[in-house]
Amino acid sequence: MALDPADRDPSVDPGTDFYRFANGGWLDRNPIPPGYGAWGSFEELSVRNEAIVHRVVEQAATAPVDEVHRLLGDYYAAGMDTAAIEAAGLDPIRPYLDRIDAVASVDDLYAVLPELHRDGFTLLWGQAVTVDHTDSTANLLWVVPTGLGLPDRDAYVDQSEAAEALRRAYVDHVAAQLVNLGEDPGDAAAHGAAVLELETRLAEPQLKAEEQRDPAATMHRHTLADVDAMAPVLPLRAHLVALGLGDLSVVNVQQPAYVSALADILATTDPDVLRAYARFHVVSSAASTLPEVFDRTDFEFYGRLVGGQQEQKERYKRVLAALGADMGEALGRVYVTETFAPEAKERALAMVEAILAEMRRSLETREWMSDATRTRGLAKLDGVGVKIGYPDEWRDWTGIGIARDSYALNRIRAARFEFEHQRRKLARPVDPAEWEMPPHVVNAYYHPTRNEIVFPAGILQPPMFDAEADDAVNFGGIGTVVAHEITHGFDDQGRQFDADGTLHDWWEPEDGERFTHLADRLAGQFDQYIAVGDVHVNGRLTLGENIADLGGISLACRAHARVGAGSPDIDGLSPAQRFFLANATIWRANVSEELARTLAQVDPHSPRRLRVLGPFSNLDAFQEAWGLPDDAPMMRPWAERIEIW
Ligand SMILES: [Zn+2]
Repeated sequence: MALDPADRDPSVDPGTDFYRFANGGWLDRNPIPPGYGAWGSFEELSVRNEAIVHRVVEQAATAPVDEVHRLLGDYYAAGMDTAAIEAAGLDPIRPYLDRIDAVASVDDLYAVLPELHRDGFTLLWGQAVTVDHTDSTANLLWVVPTGLGLPDRDAYVDQSEAAEALRRAYVDHVAAQLVNLGEDPGDAAAHGAAVLELETRLAEPQLKAEEQRDPAATMHRHTLADVDAMAPVLPLRAHLVALGLGDLSVVNVQQPAYVSALADILATTDPDVLRAYARFHVVSSAASTLPEVFDRTDFEFYGRLVGGQQEQKERYKRVLAALGADMGEALGRVYVTETFAPEAKERALAMVEAILAEMRRSLETREWMSDATRTRGLAKLDGVGVKIGYPDEWRDWTGIGIARDSYALNRIRAARFEFEHQRRKLARPVDPAEWEMPPHVVNAYYHPTRNEIVFPAGILQPPMFDAEADDAVNFGGIGTVVAHEITHGFDDQGRQFDADGTLHDWWEPEDGERFTHLADRLAGQFDQYIAVGDVHVNGRLTLGENIADLGGISLACRAHARVGAGSPDIDGLSPAQRFFLANATIWRANVSEELARTLAQVDPHSPRRLRVLGPFSNLDAFQEAWGLPDDAPMMRPWAERIEIW
């Protein structure tokens, strides 16, 4: 992909609003399509990847070439068979609803929960398996709060008008789904209000999203006997035993205050409200697989009001998304067979090597860092593992039980299969070959306890990465993404893990203080930005991502300056100018107000516009590339600029 002048807005001065200067033409030409809450480079690329898997899955539904194709084809065909879905009605979830209807006490509810959790209905709390922060070779079970119907804990306590409006709409939404289940409208309205009240009580003791970023605040390892002592009335231990998890020597209770409060909240709630809460959450999580009335009701709240979509996405897109969630590696496998060439992997690897070398120079040259911390930082960098494209070994789907009979049952079968997969991991050491993201997604990650960076094939595509394009475009695109992920190992959260991925402070105290001071200043910068309307960016929630964005653009810019030195101008633009244009291009997006509000509350990333304006305002190299004066509105005064990596 060349940088297209028509994508820019030449009427805007690059020193005033570089995001608009770089993207104005594209933004004006590309309104948000009806099925989307936002539309930008990431969505464009996702749609291209989606078209590839769509073609393969449609073929698989008629003429599967192997067993994985058979599973994908059957899942897809069942998902598209709306006549069968209408005919089945509530049958697929009837057994759960019947058991909930028989709940007459909080103890009855506890007795139903193991089956619900195992089958993918996460009410009240959930179980998740992750790498143990204190021993990165071991897996550990986490008990985490779940089962809130609004996007985040703060959505229950935020006093803004927009938050209050969303809560009123939620009450109506809960009531509407209960009416769809056959309740009298008057009862359903009362139940809707009572469910909001119950969930508000459940939300209050939970950690804020930014507090959950603190590994120390969420690490509470307990034996099962300790768990009983922590919440003597809550039968958490019996619950784990019922799920086949009774032989664990230790579990991590992510939020002890929540677990301690839970039994009392439930014991003082009318069983009639507990039933309404459970019925709503079962139907809510199954809604997309049920008859149209449930699916439509679900869209009106979660699609329109939370996600900012004007219309539902076409059904095939929604079924493919569900398939990606339930059998991501199977879908990713057919994707990479179609698109991912070995040369792309080699070129991406060379990019990763160049950026790792730049991070090494950064660690070597930080004036505020002592030699002791520097040495340990370099050891951590040397230990960073790299995964590109797709896993070496594909997951085995034997026993998942996918069939053409029922979309809803397929999703439940997949949830059960995944639960067993996770449960079995607890008895084994961490598998270093495992991927935590399927290969076809437009995303990437750094994993602190594995100390590795992972780039799925789905993001190694234009405009992020183009084997035909010049270095400026690739360093400004995928290069900044690679650098972003590397610096996550050294952001406010990642720096707390050592080279082995163990939560362990390897920083000399004064270096830690100096880093924290820089990070605090960056949080202060982002706190000042407006995300949407009158909502400010949460500088603490987005701190790790903002450190990674700032470090990412800095490292990729320096790495590009090395390889791009002496390259000719193209279309009157210097290599450095093209680098910054390419970077602004990957963040271009039109975003609906509803989605922007939701993301401001839950997303640890800053709004995409600010992923350009925020980092660039600190960057001397950006000012230089565009010949901007010191007082250009894009630039912060010199004394306020921050360079971390
Ligand atoms: Zn990130």
